[in-house]
Amino acid sequence: MSRSDNKKSLLLFPNDGQPRWELSPQQEIVKEHIQNKLLNGEYKTVPATCLCGAAQDEYEILALKDRYGLFHKVVLCTKCSLIFNASPLDRDSAAKFYDADYRDLYNLGPIDESSAFQKQYVRGSVIYDLASRFIGTRKINVLDIGCGGGGYLDVFHKKGHDVVGIDLDSRHFSYGSTKGIEKLYKLSLPQFIEQHQQPFGLVIMSHVLEHVQDPLGHLNMIHDLLALDGLFYLEVPNFDPKDKTDFLTELQNAHNWYFDEFVMRNLLVSCGFEVLEFVKPFHMGFLLRKAKSRLPGRAFSQQVNPQVVSEKLRMLRMANRRHQLNEPLIQLRCFLGKIKRILVWLWVKK
Ligand SMILES: [Zn+2]
Repeated sequence: MSRSDNKKSLLLFPNDGQPRWELSPQQEIVKEHIQNKLLNGEYKTVPATCLCGAAQDEYEILALKDRYGLFHKVVLCTKCSLIFNASPLDRDSAAKFYDADYRDLYNLGPIDESSAFQKQYVRGSVIYDLASRFIGTRKINVLDIGCGGGGYLDVFHKKGHDVVGIDLDSRHFSYGSTKGIEKLYKLSLPQFIEQHQQPFGLVIMSHVLEHVQDPLGHLNMIHDLLALDGLFYLEVPNFDPKDKTDFLTELQNAHNWYFDEFVMRNLLVSCGFEVLEFVKPFHMGFLLRKAKSRLPGRAFSQQVNPQVVSEKLRMLRMANRRHQLNEPLIQLRCFLGKIKRILVWLWVKK
């Protein structure tokens, strides 16, 4: 089989514009806005390179659309097995997208500050339980990158630690300050580093790394921010094909990187972190410690055994087959649901 034949057979989702589910009228409108902005150049995409530095001809295209039916070029690097968005929005376009379209496309609805903060607090308690046995009785500085209202930080604040949060969306800050979380700043990580030099005993970054353009840069900056033996809690979605039944549902244009445990461990070790705990309830949580043995300037350039890559491809194909087998059942369930609603409506009218 030639390489081009092989490539064709790996494309699971061509760019046919079809969404994974029926979109709401609001989602249809925002989808059209995004498509128009891509066409008229208001949103610009840029070619992305794999974190291992492999060349374009070492990528296999897996999908050309996301779950909304928007253009999304998802490839697998045959050198390191990372799956990523090879054609992401450039920095300016991404900032505009998060401001104008993100919430409506993802159907997130109006923000309920209180319940968002409470959900964060519950998750923050889990992070605290993980980290506390390595912190002991020390009082430390805690930084949350992408902090929202500061619900994670509230847990550590109540335990007497000094807390600070940064987020590019400052709408939640006023609610956080009513809870006593004072140091919340509208800053990117590089901006924050320019202004703050103190080392941190714990850095938290949850569901941020998959969105950024430069994950290696972020991991290196966090490494520099940590005190000796400092801790880092990182949480990202789990994109391991063997844990998935519906591959297309996972694809969303806001995600630039689709990590799995294997890739993530390689990446973290090469960026100078030691894995203390790994939790996988649904997403992947890593509690890490700044390793003493990091080589200055060492970057991720992991070449993996080809068997790892072929196994991942086999899993992706299987996940897709499961999806295709399930699809008629999902359609049937939707159809029966509609019939039931009509019958209930007729019964009530009678
Ligand atoms: Zn790679």
